[in-house]
Amino acid sequence: MKTIGILGGMSAASTLVYYRRLCDLHRDAKGGLASPDLLIRSVDFSAIEEMQRAGDWAAAGRFLNRAARGLKAGGAEILLLATNTMHKVADAVMEGIDLPFIHIADATASEIVSAGFKRPGLMATAFTMEQPFYIERLEAARLAPVIPSQPDRQTVHRIIYEELCRDEVRDDSRLRFQEIAERLVQAGADSLILGCTEVGMLLHAGNVSVPVFDTVDIHCRAALAAAG
Ligand code: GLU
Repeated sequence: MKTIGILGGMSAASTLVYYRRLCDLHRDAKGGLASPDLLIRSVDFSAIEEMQRAGDWAAAGRFLNRAARGLKAGGAEILLLATNTMHKVADAVMEGIDLPFIHIADATASEIVSAGFKRPGLMATAFTMEQPFYIERLEAARLAPVIPSQPDRQTVHRIIYEELCRDEVRDDSRLRFQEIAERLVQAGADSLILGCTEVGMLLHAGNVSVPVFDTVDIHCRAALAAAG
């Protein structure tokens, strides 16, 4: 199999989920003691979050491009950017790096289309829910995403940064997330994208009334398929 390079740490809480998921999926497929060939470059999320808040996406792109070059130099043959939000600067991250890149939004859109859904709700950071870089990729696949109301977007964003990215999983926040997911269903969503790599810490197929598309799970399966 090819070596999968993971650009992670955004947040560390979700990179742990990536590692677990990649190992489980690979062992389920290959059996025995099989474990995937991985390189993880976990960056300092506090630096990234400051650049996000300052709107300095160009600096974030350069920072992650250096980290991605390190993964290539270390032997990575496929690259994953283990966060939805930072796909805003995916082109800058991959600049000058001639490796296959698994785009999380494209992999997600393609699964939703194959499953026959059309109006996925999207729960993610405010950047992902409000800016075109992610929604446009879904629309390019002929999907019509349903976005939460402004107060709901604010709640989802706050819980992601103030709790989930700090490894804090709270029952009251799970309830808030379930209520927001249900409002998306009432607004016409036929499925739900867990469009932030931490959202799966609170929501899953068992507590949402429509089919759930977890971007971590989809991203990991796409990477393993590409790695062979
Ligand atoms: N992991 C998150 C995502 O999938 C948010 C953290 C970040 O801003 O990278 O969007």
